[in-house]
Amino acid sequence: MIIKKERFDIENYLDDASGLRSTNIDKVFIPENEKEIQEIVQECNSKNEFLTASGAGTGTVGGRVAFRGNVLSLERMNKIIEVNKEKKFAVLQAGVIVKEFLDEISSQDLFYPPFPTERTATIGGNISTNASGEYSFRFGSTRKYVRRIKVVLSDGRIVNLKRGQVFEKDGYLMVPETGIRFRIPDYVIPRVKKHSAGYYSCPGMDLIDIFIGSEGTLGVITEAEVSLIDSFENIFFCAVFFDDLKNATLFVKEIKNRQDLSENVLCLEYFDKNSLDFLRPAYSEIPSSAKECILFGVQLNSEDDFSIWDNLLTKYNSIENWLGNTEKDIEKLYSFRHKLPELINEMLRRKKQTKLATDIAVPEE
Ligand SMILES: Cc1cc2nc3c(=O)[nH]c(=O)nc-3n(C[C@H](O)[C@H](O)[C@H](O)COP(=O)(O)OP(=O)(O)OC[C@H]3O[C@@H](n4cnc5c(N)ncnc54)[C@H](O)[C@@H]3O)c2cc1C
Repeated sequence: MIIKKERFDIENYLDDASGLRSTNIDKVFIPENEKEIQEIVQECNSKNEFLTASGAGTGTVGGRVAFRGNVLSLERMNKIIEVNKEKKFAVLQAGVIVKEFLDEISSQDLFYPPFPTERTATIGGNISTNASGEYSFRFGSTRKYVRRIKVVLSDGRIVNLKRGQVFEKDGYLMVPETGIRFRIPDYVIPRVKKHSAGYYSCPGMDLIDIFIGSEGTLGVITEAEVSLIDSFENIFFCAVFFDDLKNATLFVKEIKNRQDLSENVLCLEYFDKNSLDFLRPAYSEIPSSAKECILFGVQLNSEDDFSIWDNLLTKYNSIENWLGNTEKDIEKLYSFRHKLPELINEMLRRKKQTKLATDIAVPEE
């Protein structure tokens, strides 16, 4: 295990992508196995010292930023333990970097549906924030792909939580073999596709779900088993520029109202004029009259499907379309999408401002 104490060595652990910055912490523990994590947690617990779990620090709400006590970095817990192509699951240590995982499974023609946007994040960070990505319109966020997690609780006990084994009863959840029984929050979580605020809570919920999205407050996730699917082809992405909001809105409405279109959509996202203006210095090719942009991605069932989309673009008078149907061009459109939060974060860093960013989800009706 590595323990860092010197100011110079701990510098990189004092902030995250929000720009929220701590002035100091005592130590950064960098364990290499679960036993070391258990010892660190037990030691901090016995000394009553604070301990904050840290993934890659790409979080946007300061979750890994510790204002006192110690940080436990999962960076050396970075092994892909198993990829099971036949049964379509993978077992990973929590510090595995998303990009390395995606590359590994794609070489075996497999895909991880949450496809988290920030590829430098860790799997443990993704689970702790219930992260989502480019394809969340189709697949939703991380939660439903997590089959099992191993967690070191705050007293050092290790629990192996499998989905489908323990459910809420009479408002309580029990953690097996620990004697821990606790009341679930009594708020009602909104019925929206993406929801990451607060602890997950609903009648009949699975115990594992209170840990997913709990931002490291309930324990340190050391290992996870996640579901995979076969990778798929015939994808195209398109950034469609409009010069008025009405056409952009009607375009989206038609996609959402027509099952033959929406069932194949992977991504459907909106950039307003301010966002486009912010992107213009980096993308001078954005049409000067563009006021809105819809970025969408589709998995085509057959080559013929494409003409349906082509007709739709004509129907709603898009002023320009950036189409990507090769891996390289789709990657460019992912970058276009990613550039917006990146540029905003860069600007705020330059201005030494903090941005605790969060998404807002509204019910569809
Ligand atoms: C440009 C950009 C775009 C982004 N886009 C998206 C997006 O589209 N969707 C989205 O959901 N997020 C997005 N994010 C946010 C971020 O990438 C995710 O929140 C990511 O899951 C954080 O992972 P991390 O490893 O960096 O975690 P960190 O930032 O290190 O930690 C995040 C939280 O998880 C806890 N934690 C980390 N690891 C563990 C562990 N092993 N056990 C227990 N707790 C742990 C930390 O204590 C902290 O509370 C974006 C970030 C950036 C910079």
